[in-house]
Amino acid sequence: MDTSTDAATAADTADTADSADTADLDETLVCSGCGTTPPPEARAAARLTWSRGTDAGRTTWTCERCSRENLRSIESKLDPVWW
Ligand SMILES: [Zn+2]
Repeated sequence: MDTSTDAATAADTADTADSADTADLDETLVCSGCGTTPPPEARAAARLTWSRGTDAGRTTWTCERCSRENLRSIESKLDPVWW
């Protein structure tokens, strides 16, 4: 009986499942403000530092720089008295 072929096939299947998981984690971050994408090595950090939001059910990301600029423009819009 040769069972080594079966074992190799099982390992192949596990590998494929693994790659699918990795692809899911590899969701592309694109800044909704300036359209920049973090380099692969900074992607994990970007997930922590970028602002995450939802727009019409889709996940949107805003890079650190744009978040700061947005915040400033929101603050400056709040500052003037409109009425
Ligand atoms: Zn940006």
